Amino acid sequence: MVTAAPGEERSLALALVNTSRSTADDLAAPGDAASWLGDHGLPAAVTGTDGLSRLTDLRAAVRELLAALAEGRAPEATAVDAVNAAARADAAAPRLTWHAGPSREWHSTRPESLDAAVAALARDAIEVVSGDLGPLVRPCEAHGCIRYYFREHARRRWCSTTCGDRVRAARHHRLLVEQREGSR
Ligand SMILES: [Zn+2]
Repeated sequence: MVTAAPGEERSLALALVNTSRSTADDLAAPGDAASWLGDHGLPAAVTGTDGLSRLTDLRAAVRELLAALAEGRAPEATAVDAVNAAARADAAAPRLTWHAGPSREWHSTRPESLDAAVAALARDAIEVVSGDLGPLVRPCEAHGCIRYYFREHARRRWCSTTCGDRVRAARHHRLLVEQREGSR
């Protein structure tokens, strides 16, 4: 079990991007993808490579949007188009609920379908990149790590303590080598 990067609990789109890691892919096969969707409150059947590629294509497009934000540039137009097309897969409507206070949910017209799941992920991507969380998107700075996270603490530079420890260990190792060479 991989520790979620900071922000994944607030954004399905961020969690989607982070299913692709340097050492693993949570969406490697349709069954894996269906489990991942179920674990993230988007139960849907994923059938064959066509179903799977709808998710992996969306993931690639959202990754491009996050990269563009973090790098302060405009994203590829094809990525914007892909996310918009995915958002249209389900004609969901906002639904207001009022229990402890007002809150908004999205009411799908096709619950528990892959269309609904893809649209929910795309909708979250649009809300993240165009909203308050957008400026917080950062790539993990650890060498070889390809995850993104929301930097809500100014000093954070890694997606996990594992990555932070790895960078510190590498830095320590480099220092030892330099000291050894310096003492010759
Ligand atoms: Zn990392």
